[in-house]
Amino acid sequence: LSLARVRLVEVFHDAYVQLESRFVQKGLRFENRIPEGFVVEADPDRLRQIVLNLMANAVQYNRERGYVAAEAWEDDRFSYFAVEDSGIGIPARDLGRIFERFYRVDKARSRESGGTGLGLAIVKHLVEAHRGVISVVSEEGQGTVFTVALPRGGISDEEVPSGEAREHGAPSSGDSRP
Ligand code: ATP
Ligand code: MG
Repeated sequence: LSLARVRLVEVFHDAYVQLESRFVQKGLRFENRIPEGFVVEADPDRLRQIVLNLMANAVQYNRERGYVAAEAWEDDRFSYFAVEDSGIGIPARDLGRIFERFYRVDKARSRESGGTGLGLAIVKHLVEAHRGVISVVSEEGQGTVFTVALPRGGISDEEVPSGEAREHGAPSSGDSRP
């Protein structure tokens, strides 16, 4: 990891711009509530990947004319940010497994919408490489909130594997499906 002080509001703005056509198609609004001066200590590229994957899910599993909201706050030890959506939610029985590689809720429906089930596994891996924690709260038919906590002020120099990545940060070798 190559740590830097990163302005979080810009990372979210950039992710929104990348996903903007999908926001428009679905009639979704984006509420970027990250305070202007809010800074996190993270590897900038990995942080972008984390935010983009969470935002992509918040769009993909949303309803028409819903919303996606980003928030951030901090305490003594951690900086936190959350991505909230007004989407379909995740059944309680699946919540424990969504961070597993290739795990997808409702395989048939998910397959139509494309994707591999790698996005969250990569997010979790990248968060943990920062010695951070990711958690999720969800209610079916209401929406989902993913919260990431990143330690403040200096962390490990652990390296993460360098796989080139586009939206999902998934390995680029083929479109493998389970
Ligand atoms: P990929 O991200 O590789 O394109 P994916 O979106 O299916 O595929 P993940 O991002 O790892 O894979 O998500 C795993 C599963 O968790 C999804 O298939 C979906 O069922 C569920 N999920 C993830 N994010 C949300 C969300 N915001 N709302 C509802 N369900 C979600
Ligand atoms: Mg995904």
